[in-house]
Amino acid sequence: MNKITNHMPTAELQALDAAHHMHPFTAGAELAKAGARVITSADGVMLTDSEGKNLLDAMAGLWCVNIGYGRNELAEAAARQMRELPYYNTFFMTTHVPVIALSAKLAELAPEGFNNVFYAGSGSEANDTNIRMVRHYWSAKGQPEKKIIISRKNGYHGSTLGGASLGGMIPMHQQGGLPIPDIHHIDQPNWWAEGGDMSPEDFGLERARQLEAAINHYGEDKIAAFIAEPVQGAGGVIVPPETYWPEIQRICDAHDILLIADEVICGFGRTGEWFGSTTYNIKPHIMTIAKGLSSGYAPIGGSLVCDEVADVINNAGDFNHGYTYSGHPVSAAVALENLRILEEEGIVDTVRDETAPYLKEKWEALTDHPLIGQASISGMMASVAMTPHKESRAAFKTPGALGYYCRTRCFENGLVMRHVGDRMIISPPLVIKKDEIDTLMDRAVKSLDETYTWAKSEGHMSA
Ligand SMILES: *Cc1c(COP(=O)(O)O)cnc(C)c1O
Repeated sequence: MNKITNHMPTAELQALDAAHHMHPFTAGAELAKAGARVITSADGVMLTDSEGKNLLDAMAGLWCVNIGYGRNELAEAAARQMRELPYYNTFFMTTHVPVIALSAKLAELAPEGFNNVFYAGSGSEANDTNIRMVRHYWSAKGQPEKKIIISRKNGYHGSTLGGASLGGMIPMHQQGGLPIPDIHHIDQPNWWAEGGDMSPEDFGLERARQLEAAINHYGEDKIAAFIAEPVQGAGGVIVPPETYWPEIQRICDAHDILLIADEVICGFGRTGEWFGSTTYNIKPHIMTIAKGLSSGYAPIGGSLVCDEVADVINNAGDFNHGYTYSGHPVSAAVALENLRILEEEGIVDTVRDETAPYLKEKWEALTDHPLIGQASISGMMASVAMTPHKESRAAFKTPGALGYYCRTRCFENGLVMRHVGDRMIISPPLVIKKDEIDTLMDRAVKSLDETYTWAKSEGHMSA
């Protein structure tokens, strides 16, 4: 076979892809017909595809390319580490410099009382670790019956058996016999879709109190932990009502359970602070990290563990758990360089003080658009809800059709914006500049206008 390169005709690349590559979260046969979009290179916030088209990547890949594309320093860090020590494990009483340096750096950046990290290859794996760690923690404390983990419908915690079980995505549960035992889901704090006649504040309290009801139902002595994303990402960038997190915190404090904040998206500057837990004043025991930890340049995830939990685990004999790539030296070196850039270039501060407020003003003005009922934003993650009737917050008769259409228009207009049902969502690289935000907004509005015109002609706007 000839060498396969960027310079092959797109159709040939698509045919080979369709013949041999099974894609995540994709209907293979449909994709084979349509042909996958082939991304060939990227720089800053811009992608280039095999047809030479430029796309502004308002999703930062999959919420991960926080420092933007094309940072040579990370390539150098990877190459240096590969030459010096491409691999060694951290099992059996060994360690290496990149993992030591990264762990010390994370302890410095994390909120007070977080001085330990357990590594994984991804966010999903890290959440699998969390399931085992919290149960082992209670077992080590003589309460092995504290096993149930409470999570939320429409939450996302990954795609492994454990991660997808913690997650509340019904289509995922329907494939493969999930969830695994002893995971219980409460309702999400999605006021727009589920708040009915309640005020957002009352609704936030009601949803938080479902946690207390579940704890009382099963008994505190059966509950190991509650896990949640500070802001739901894959569920549609659902920013909870202001009352939600304080009430969740009160409930976790009042009952003897652990709180796991899944910071895989929110961590490393996404919400305008280093961690979403800081933004929302959450005091978790464990924080799941991945994605922005390496800005996606190398696969790495982990669990940041508070001193109390780490102390119990460390003193309970062997923790019989770990991955071949836990603390992989190349990924660790890349992550460390990524954190150096985030910190030294003041990227998180710039998001909080300048670019996120700039985006917020423009994003929230989208509610003037005839299609948009709600605009939500937290730092550099944002969503809009499309509706045929703003007042009643009605859903469309064919849910997801407008979202899908709008996403397609975005691609045509040079913008990667995702849809979750009829919510349009963005999570751009944190380095996005004000003029690039202007471009993002222009392309988003154009795509929404086109979607509105189409929706009217197709009869979607009659509620
Ligand atoms: C993406 C994501 C995960 C899973 O991470 P992977 O690296 O894809 O395994 C877990 N939790 C949240 C909140 C995520 O957004």
